[in-house]
Amino acid sequence: MSTNVRVSFEFFPPKQSAGDNSFWSTVKKLEGIDPLFVSVTYGAGGTTQDRTLATLKRLTDETRLKAAGHLTCVGKTKREVNEVIRAYSAMGIRHIVALRGDPTGGLGERFQPHPEGYKNAADLVRGIKELGAFEVSVSAYPERHPDSVSIEEDLAFMADKAENGASRAISQFFFHNAFFLRLRDRVAARGIKINLVPGILPITNFAKVGEFATKCGAHVPPDLARRFAGLDAEPETRNLVAAMIAAEQVQALAREGVTDFHFYTLNRSELVYAICRVLGLGAPAADAAA
Ligand code: FAD
Repeated sequence: MSTNVRVSFEFFPPKQSAGDNSFWSTVKKLEGIDPLFVSVTYGAGGTTQDRTLATLKRLTDETRLKAAGHLTCVGKTKREVNEVIRAYSAMGIRHIVALRGDPTGGLGERFQPHPEGYKNAADLVRGIKELGAFEVSVSAYPERHPDSVSIEEDLAFMADKAENGASRAISQFFFHNAFFLRLRDRVAARGIKINLVPGILPITNFAKVGEFATKCGAHVPPDLARRFAGLDAEPETRNLVAAMIAAEQVQALAREGVTDFHFYTLNRSELVYAICRVLGLGAPAADAAA
C-alpha cells in the first residue's frame, strides 16, 4: 500500500482521574504514526469545555502532535463561543473543527439557534475566520444528516461552509463506501472547493456501533453483522476481524484515489494503530529504510 496516505485521529477528552494514564498511552502510541493532526471533541452546549481545553493544552505542551479543537455553537451566544476561540488561539491551536452541535434536550428536540448565537456551522466558520488565521474543518454526511430533507440540502450547507473558509470536510462514519464516493462526486459536480475526508470508525463493539449508526442514519450492512456474530466472548478474534474490516474499507477507498483518512479512535489505539500499519504508516525509521 502506498504511503502517500495521510491520517488524522479524533479523541474525546478523557475524564481526568488520578493515576489513569490510559488516554495518554493511546496518544503516545498513535504519535508514532505521525498523523497530519489529532482532534479533540467538544460537548454540545460546552458540556466538555474544561476537559477539551485541558486535553488540548497538554497535547500542545507535551507532544509533537498538531492538535485541532472541535467547537460547537448550539445553545451559546456568539460572545461565549468567541471566548473559546480566543482560548484555543492563546494556547497555540490554529485548527478548529467547526460544528453546529445537537440540542442538549434529548432525542427529537429540533435545533434552534440561540437568539444571540451563530445560526449554524457555516455561520460559525465565518466567525472563526473573522477572529484569526485558523484552518477550519467541518462535518459532512455521506448518508444525509438526520435533520436534512435531502443530500442536496446538505450540499448547500457544505457549499456555504466552504465559501466561508472551511478547507476540509470530515465525514460521519459509514460502512458502504458507495455513499462516500457518491458524495465526493456530488461535491465535485457542484464545484465545492473542499477536501472531503472519510471518517472511519473501527468497530470495537458491534452492538454499540449499531445503536450509534441508527442515531446518525448510517446503514449497517447485514454482512457486517454476520462477520461479528457470535464473537462477543472472543475479544481477540473480534479485534482481528474489526481491524481487517476497517483495513479493507480504507484500502478500497485508497484504490478510488482517497489519500486522507480521519479515524474515530474512541480513545483506543490498538485497532487504529494496526490499520495504519497495514496502510504502510508508522514503521520505525531503520525498518522502513530496509
Ligand atoms: P450543519 O453543517 O450546520 O448542518 C448539518 C446538516 O443539517 C445540514 O447539512 C442541513 O442539511 C441540516 N440542517 C442544519 N440546520 C438545519 C435547520 N435549521 N433545518 C433543517 N435542516 C438543517 N458534535 C458535538 O457535539 N461535538 C463534536 O465535537 C462533534 N464533532 C463532530 C465531528 C464530525 C467529523 C462530525 C461529522 C460530527 C460531529 N459532531 C459533533 C456532530 C454534529 O454536531 C451534529 O451532527 C449536528 O447535528 C450537526 O452539526 P453540523 O456542524 O454538521 O451542522
